[in-house]
Amino acid sequence: MSFHDAHSSLQDGVHKLLSCPSPCAMQRYYEQLSTSGLGPGLQVRYIGGEMGKGVFAVKDFNEEEVVLQEPMLVGAQHSSNKVNAMVCSYCFRYVGSLELQLARRLLHQEGDSVGDEEGSEKDMDRDEDVGHYMDEEEERDMTSHMDEDNENCGCERSTKPKKALPPEALAALASGGLQLPHVEHFVLPPVVKCKGGCSEDIYCSDACAEAAWEAYHSLLCSGPLSLCKNIDALSSFKQFADETNDIFHIAAQVVAATILRAWKLENEKSGTVAISSSRGISEATMLKAWEPFAMGYKQLWWQTVALPADVEPSNEQEFRNQMKEIAAHSLSLLKQAIYKETFSPLFTLDVYGHIIGMFELNNLEIVVASPVEDYFLYINDLPPEAKAQAGLVTKVYLDALGDDYTAYCQGSAFFALQSCINHSCTPNAKAFKRDQDNDGQAVLLATRHIRRGEEITISYIDEDSSLEERKAALADYGFTCRCLRCLQES
Ligand SMILES: [Zn+2]
Ligand SMILES: [Zn+2]
Ligand SMILES: [Zn+2]
Repeated sequence: MSFHDAHSSLQDGVHKLLSCPSPCAMQRYYEQLSTSGLGPGLQVRYIGGEMGKGVFAVKDFNEEEVVLQEPMLVGAQHSSNKVNAMVCSYCFRYVGSLELQLARRLLHQEGDSVGDEEGSEKDMDRDEDVGHYMDEEEERDMTSHMDEDNENCGCERSTKPKKALPPEALAALASGGLQLPHVEHFVLPPVVKCKGGCSEDIYCSDACAEAAWEAYHSLLCSGPLSLCKNIDALSSFKQFADETNDIFHIAAQVVAATILRAWKLENEKSGTVAISSSRGISEATMLKAWEPFAMGYKQLWWQTVALPADVEPSNEQEFRNQMKEIAAHSLSLLKQAIYKETFSPLFTLDVYGHIIGMFELNNLEIVVASPVEDYFLYINDLPPEAKAQAGLVTKVYLDALGDDYTAYCQGSAFFALQSCINHSCTPNAKAFKRDQDNDGQAVLLATRHIRRGEEITISYIDEDSSLEERKAALADYGFTCRCLRCLQES
């Protein structure tokens, strides 16, 4: 193949990856998902226009009924959140033990107070995302209750400052020598290590370890059994993502998932089992493997990312160029780590930029409630005598955490079905974690009775804001809302 031919076939591959799937292909894909048991009671339909597709009820849903419960396709915990929550890398469930979770947070807190302050600032920015989980008023109520209670029992715990933890208290926790009282009500699954031998990713079960390995981790693992041939480059890639934008971690998962899925499809065709990473893959196989991500709405990240408040409008172009350079550098590191010639369109800046852009528009902020918080609330709610007794052990830890005892697990993820649900300012469904939802699955509940045939909608933004505020917030998603409420208010 001449250089010119190679170039035009690369461009052709890129074009095919980025073109919107036909309504027919779309229908087929979502029907397959539905057959596999995802979203019973729902159907994805092509509706055309600006919205493209929507999700419709094919049965009635009662108010508060679960409309959708869906595991993520790809997703990652925010890098800055890792000290707050030790969770399964695949499903985001808390693992280990309560003592381990506490020890880890306190160890970090003792070791790095500057970094921790930055972390909590970011946490505050994301407070709105857990609105459904505990609103500010409830949070305030709870804190004031605890203060009252503490005053009653003669302790002087203040709301803000953290108290230094006696070294022996931390050592007892970290060594596993101390068992906290009543911890039997908060049993977490034991930590399962990555089968590739890395120490970065941990799991809640063999099933999660296996699923992650199959889906993307075997190419992104830095352990000795990794399929990645350049672990140094992979480590640089991960470090750069931690420092700049942790969406890059998920973009790498998308690339790795497409490659692994293509190999698997090729094996199924030829009846082989072993993965041969040097084999060529047909374009049709690559496109089939890419299908789950082809369905997401994509725009170039550096062109669509919202301008941060501290960037002057006159510096917009410079800002966007910088974002493009960051993405290009991230991609060059990823290429050094896992590039395969046969997948060359997947490794172009154009496709990479669109994958990251997809996360700006379709992703969901993941929140998993913390068992550490639940534990302290449980202790606080014990009858006075039992509470005082437990407090003899737990008080030093609660004091050392201060208000940070409420920190939860946060990340971003992409969901095949959830990402198809359109916005409304008077939605009929909402993301909500029930008590039993202790992992990163998307759970949507009906906010009112939903009739068969109705389109399912959620609110992408704070629906209590004014028309003007909603318009501005939705501009970041690239559309103008035409829901009934918006039409009536304008
Ligand atoms: Zn898991
Ligand atoms: Zn690994
Ligand atoms: Zn609206």
